[in-house]
Amino acid sequence: MTDNFFDIAAARFPADADAPFIELESGRRYSYRDLREISGRYARLLTELGVAKGDRVAVQVEKSAEAVFLYLACLRAGAAYLPLNTAYTKAEVGYFLGDAEPKVFVCTPGNAAALAGTAAAAGVGTVLTLGTDGGGSLAERAVGLDADFGTVACGADDLAAILYTSGTTGRSKGAMMSHRNLSSNAATLHRIWGFRPDDVLLHALPIFHTHGLFVATNCVLMNGTGMLFLSKFDADAVFRLLPRATVMMGVPTFYTRLLTDPRLTPEAAAHMRLFISGSAPLLADTHREFRERTGHAILERYGMTETGMLTSNPLDGERIPGTVGFPLPEVSVRVVDEKTGEPVADGGIGVLEVKGPNVFSGYWRMPEKTAQEFRPGGWFITGDVGRIDERGYVHIIGRAKDLVISGGFNVYPKEVETAIDAIGGVVESAVIGVPHPDFGEAVVAVVLRRSGAEAIDEAAVIGACREQLANFKVPKAVAFVDELPRNAMGKVQKNLLRETYKGLFG
Ligand code: AMP
Repeated sequence: MTDNFFDIAAARFPADADAPFIELESGRRYSYRDLREISGRYARLLTELGVAKGDRVAVQVEKSAEAVFLYLACLRAGAAYLPLNTAYTKAEVGYFLGDAEPKVFVCTPGNAAALAGTAAAAGVGTVLTLGTDGGGSLAERAVGLDADFGTVACGADDLAAILYTSGTTGRSKGAMMSHRNLSSNAATLHRIWGFRPDDVLLHALPIFHTHGLFVATNCVLMNGTGMLFLSKFDADAVFRLLPRATVMMGVPTFYTRLLTDPRLTPEAAAHMRLFISGSAPLLADTHREFRERTGHAILERYGMTETGMLTSNPLDGERIPGTVGFPLPEVSVRVVDEKTGEPVADGGIGVLEVKGPNVFSGYWRMPEKTAQEFRPGGWFITGDVGRIDERGYVHIIGRAKDLVISGGFNVYPKEVETAIDAIGGVVESAVIGVPHPDFGEAVVAVVLRRSGAEAIDEAAVIGACREQLANFKVPKAVAFVDELPRNAMGKVQKNLLRETYKGLFG
């Protein structure tokens, strides 16, 4: 056995190959045999297309069982899996393809015509398609290929995946994840969350992000059990499936939405063992309300794309609302003064820095950016501000870089501001996140127009953003001002803007 994460997980697959792996809303089931055979055929196809160890395979497809098999096929072929948010526009995809230079790009059948030129311009050799029903040229070309594929041996430091995070300067960075990063985190989470042979995971997260892919799916693979796979979060489907599930992982929005539904009762959640939340702060009120309604204390954990998971509230022990729990085994977390880089006094507030086998090795082709984000000794600067209390629980207080998290997705204000500032007649803009009952935070743009440019109204700004940006980054509201508040150093005081607009959504 090698350090390839696929080998590590496969050693734990059930002896009965007919055991279920994925069940779709339609009732269609895929077994562990299907997992091995389909991922084997896809891996063979990739290899025949010239994909060799370390080559990137970029994928922008809808959530499906076949998309999971494609992820596993990439691991088996020794390639780096590069999933892209389905909301990314053609221009954004063009950037990722140009930056990552994948050998193969897989997109939806519906996008193939529109993206063919983009892929060609980026020098991508092969474009394949994959539909939600398992159709498309990837599957067609894999038909009849030998499914018995010998997984490519990989070392622990070899590249397994690249996940792009939005850059504060507007440029996205590809976080390089090694096989060690994936396997260490999967093994730890599987253990500390007490996965059992009869567990069934309710999976309603997207799979282009670390949460749905590496946290949820990899835990299931390590457990050799099945998951109920929803194409997206849908309360009706969740209530229908809860009686058959034991574990659910979600972003806080899932829980706030469930709380608005009268069907959320102790009986509805009676079969559940564990509800887990992460990717954005879970309000302490949500935690308490959920407990009152169901008897379940949501287990909140904290992590990020670059590091995988870092902390978790305990499975056995007190899950404290508003905290993200303890550093995971093998993960070190320290709190430092942002300017000096020196650890703060016990209990003090500062920027969280982390170290561990789950922490990525760097940003793809950005050695300087990588160097800036690490301190000597291998500490990665998360950019999150927090503190560790006297009992060792980590609290996240805010984000040093003003990141907005809307519906669990990260939005870097700078990228949206750049799109708005490019509109003729706009002088400048400031993008902030304000509390939103459904999305956690909503993107709001505060815009300064040139005099005489009043025709640029809210609809015009939103329309211009739509052309450039994925939907989740588009402002939900636009306010016009005569002047942006600035401090003595000339920096826009976003804290004041947040204060002004905090009541916008109730
Ligand atoms: P991503 O890279 O998309 O996973 O986003 C990572 C960021 O999400 C972190 O740096 C945090 O700012 C935020 N985050 C993730 N989990 C939590 C949590 N439980 N509480 C507060 N913030 C969180």
